Amino acid sequence: MGAALHLAHTGQATPEPKGEYGGGGGDGQSFVEYAQRIYQDDRADAKSRRLLLAFAYVVTMQPTSEPKELYRSIRKALGRDDRDRYVDTFRELIEHDVPRYIAPNEWPGGHEPWKRQCIGPRLRAFKGRPYNAHQMTPSQRVAQNKRDAEDDRNTMKICGAPGKHRVLEKLPDTGWYRWHWFCDRHRDHASRVQDQVKEQNAAAPEPIPNAGGLLPCYFDADWVAFYRHYTGERWEPPVYGVRADDWPVPGKEPVPQRARLRLVVSGHDLESE
Ligand SMILES: [Zn+2]
Repeated sequence: MGAALHLAHTGQATPEPKGEYGGGGGDGQSFVEYAQRIYQDDRADAKSRRLLLAFAYVVTMQPTSEPKELYRSIRKALGRDDRDRYVDTFRELIEHDVPRYIAPNEWPGGHEPWKRQCIGPRLRAFKGRPYNAHQMTPSQRVAQNKRDAEDDRNTMKICGAPGKHRVLEKLPDTGWYRWHWFCDRHRDHASRVQDQVKEQNAAAPEPIPNAGGLLPCYFDADWVAFYRHYTGERWEPPVYGVRADDWPVPGKEPVPQRARLRLVVSGHDLESE
């Protein structure tokens, strides 16, 4: 494995990473090796790949001792985007990489309405009423019956009405949580579930992050200061650390440690905006 590469050196030597991270100077891994690792990283979606590749390209191919130049180069490597007039693509990609937990029925920007189905019990079978119900052909009727049979409201015997009341449930081992929704008619169920999970929620640990944290798997830097710069002073790193490699995934082996390129960024090195 290659040695750590010093970038954007700010005058003060940063300690060499220990152990498998290399040490000993040298010119580090090539862009090709990094690109291969990034493309093989199942955790990296399209946005993450775009960001990681731009970092890897600049860090390996256009090393600089100037933090400002580093950021200029990364923005340039990301390429121009039609939306650049309205959004800061670089910032958007960084925000996408902020280490955090995302609940299964939650997404930044709020809860998607179709995921807010009331999970109160359903007594009678659900029957869909398509707009052309009165003039359906026999085969359309068969198809409709099949759709009804496969509908969550019937397979799971849940109410399925738009949820208005929500109850948070945290898992005791991972701290992972999800929202349970209830409609007005099932308000009593909501408060009963609320009571049931009270103790469990109070004892649950901080959720293990399941999103972001990929930049620190590839590059070494003061990532806490970096992420905080883009998310606000109040952001706190997860207790499990900022690096996705370090987050325990129940039922999975830990990710083996690999060499990371040294990238010196700290709070005051960040581009001024
Ligand atoms: Zn309901």
